[in-house]
Order: sequence, then C-alpha cells, then structure tokens
Amino acid sequence: MSTEKEIRKAAEILSNAKNVAASCGAGVSAESGIATFRDPGGVWEKLNPAEVGTASGLVNALNQNAARFIPFFIELLEAFEQAEPNPAHTALGELEKMGILKTVITQNIDNLHLEAGNTDVIEVHGNGFRLACLSCANTDTCERKELIASVKERLRNLSEYSLSTLSTLLPQCSRCGKITRPDVVMFGEMVKDIPRAFDVAKKADAMLAIGTSGVVYPAAYLPFEAKGAGAPVIVVNPNENPFARISDAYIPLNAGEAMPQILDAVKALRK
Ligand SMILES: [Zn+2]
Repeated sequence: MSTEKEIRKAAEILSNAKNVAASCGAGVSAESGIATFRDPGGVWEKLNPAEVGTASGLVNALNQNAARFIPFFIELLEAFEQAEPNPAHTALGELEKMGILKTVITQNIDNLHLEAGNTDVIEVHGNGFRLACLSCANTDTCERKELIASVKERLRNLSEYSLSTLSTLLPQCSRCGKITRPDVVMFGEMVKDIPRAFDVAKKADAMLAIGTSGVVYPAAYLPFEAKGAGAPVIVVNPNENPFARISDAYIPLNAGEAMPQILDAVKALRK
C-alpha cells in the first residue's frame, strides 16, 4: 500500500465523520522539541524514573548530585519553555474547527493541544502548567513560558534541597496560599480520567492513533475500544504499526508530516 493511498483512505474516513477521537502519544510532541521519554536519547536514558520520578526521589537525587541534576532539569524545562505547537497540533485544531474531531486524548503534559485550539483535551498524564493545591481542591492554570522562567530562576537560586525548599519553586495556591505541585502523574501514580477516555473512544465514529508506541496504558487500548464499537482506526506512526490488526489506514510518517497532508486531503474531499 502506498502512503498516498493510505492518506486518501484516512481522509475518506474523516470526511464522513463528526465525532472523531484522537489518541496522541509522545510522537506528537517530539517535533515540538520535547524528547519522547522512552525513545533512544529520551529522558529515561539519562535518568532512572524510579530514582527521580517521585518527589522524594527528586530530593534525594538533588542532595546526592546537584551538579549533575540541576543542569539536566534546566535543559528539560527549557525544552518545554521553547516548544511551540507543530503542524500536527495545528491540523488537529483545524479538524475540530471543521466539526470532524471532537476530543483529543493525550499522554503529553505540554499544553500544546490546548494552545493549538483543541477545546476538549483529556490529559491522562495531567498538565505541567496546571498547579494542584495540596491543601484545598483548587487548581491554578499558569502561562507556560512565564511559569518555566520563574521556576528556572528559583531553581538556580536554591541552596539546599528538601521537600519544603522544592515547594518554593512553584507559586502558592491562589485560593488558600498553601503549597502546590504540578498537576501531572508522577511515577507510580494513577493515570487520570481513564473512564472518560474509554467512553470517548467507544462513542467515537473514527479513531486517530498518532505517535503512540502502543505499549503505554491507556493509549495502547483506546484504538481497540473504538474498533470494538465499530469505528474505523487510522494510525499515524513512523516506526511500526502497533495496531496492525485493527488499522483501516496506516500512514508511516511523523505526525507533523502526516497530519497536514491528511487535513489537505479531507479539505479536497469536502469541496
Ligand atoms: Zn489551596
């Protein structure tokens, strides 16, 4: 099957749909400069998630080797600071405006789907720029670049590392003034909004699975859920097709390359 033909098939499916769900993995953000966590060269090659993926693990790592960890964290923060929505995000935003795409289910915490104009985004790993109060139920949404600039500044000025000094890196709760944490899923914590993600997948009239390795829960299951309920499945993934058994169209390209081509093909069909 040629890639062109698969793009046409994807466009035919989408042009007839109005309740599409997109399940997005790290591959969607890779082209925005955010390293995928599991790929070679990714974050977990440099850091052991069991070591630093929890609040106390982070404190230990800093106390043992701040000289190694601080520059790494600053580099990581800067990747999130400099990131911009890429053509895949933009195409998904446009598919929503056209009344085709309804919900994005994403593993990414970078806020880029919301910035690209998608309004119904299920963030199963949370959002790095939303702060959750540890004392009351309040959450505060911060401007991404502003928040990172202030965290970097405070991080550089920390002289000792403990849970209480780390808590001063983030703004306090706007409602009660107490300590906040990023509203993201840390290592060992439960993923968020899973019942809703499965419900959306089940009710979708087509499913797009983009840039997902097919091994991370729940992204690995959502296309099967949609397919089981009768929806066609479109897979965009350059490396392999993790959903080979159930895909109705498979585009073996990077998300930022594939999605604008699919969008153009949908527009051509709708003319
Ligand atoms: Zn509070």
